[in-house]
Amino acid sequence: MNKILYKKGKIDIKDKVNEDVNLLKFYSDILKNKRGYVVKMPKKGESVIACLSGGQDSVANIGILLKEFSLNVYPFFINRGQSNYKHEKKAVDYFNRFYKKKFPKLYHNYKEITVITPGAEYKDLLRKTKRMVDDIQLRHNVSYPARGPIVFLAGMEYGYSLKAKGIKIKTVFASNMSSDFSYHCSQTWVRLMNILFCQILNDWSWQFISLPIETEFGNHFDKDVFIKWAHDNEVPLYKARTCVKSFDIECGDCPTCWDRRRGYKEAGVKDKTKYKFPMSEKYPTYYDHEKEEKNEKRNRS
Ligand SMILES: [Zn+2]
Repeated sequence: MNKILYKKGKIDIKDKVNEDVNLLKFYSDILKNKRGYVVKMPKKGESVIACLSGGQDSVANIGILLKEFSLNVYPFFINRGQSNYKHEKKAVDYFNRFYKKKFPKLYHNYKEITVITPGAEYKDLLRKTKRMVDDIQLRHNVSYPARGPIVFLAGMEYGYSLKAKGIKIKTVFASNMSSDFSYHCSQTWVRLMNILFCQILNDWSWQFISLPIETEFGNHFDKDVFIKWAHDNEVPLYKARTCVKSFDIECGDCPTCWDRRRGYKEAGVKDKTKYKFPMSEKYPTYYDHEKEEKNEKRNRS
């Protein structure tokens, strides 16, 4: 059996704040009703769209689509005005060359798409709002709520546009993990987006899939599975960019860096990443090390 399907990790979907299993069933039934199935893994040689953010999850995900499923992969990278753009882009370019060399027929150069989100006109306000809810239970669950939907709507639309080149795309891949805590990273959201794709394209054969959390494939696993896969398949995942900060190297102590380090521990794989800070004892917030970040920026300019 495939190494990536029917795999469950420690986290149960029923225990997750950002999942609603009743709603998920309701959404899945809509798709089943419309097309006879919820989602299916595309067949060998089919063309698909996949997000490439420069982070470990999206990088490993693309490797898996190429190696384990022999799919023609058309990645997209969103320039959304992120503060770590330069570092993400560097990682994206690195893995673009890497996969192009390894899978010259199946891998296609990524498309960079500029879609600024959140809108620059209200980003500061949104940040303030985010801080206001930071100490309640929902702290990170809402995050930038439109970011996920906007990024993947753009990806879907790019896939649709490829029809003009004779490339038939019907599936878009994200790489959300069982530990992702935002509502716009959940299986419930993935299914809702899938319905949205179908409705606005008036084509019920479109699919939106996040392999690690796809319930139809019996999955609900975390980063350790991807890290282990990359290790076994010699994909140099440590060159991916996880950190949301603007430091030249991974800070090692923001929420995304923390999850990355935890992933290596759980996978039992040696982490070759160079980090700026040691891991704090308790789970960090996005606002830690802001002083150091400002200082470094000032020193650079
Ligand atoms: Zn970091």
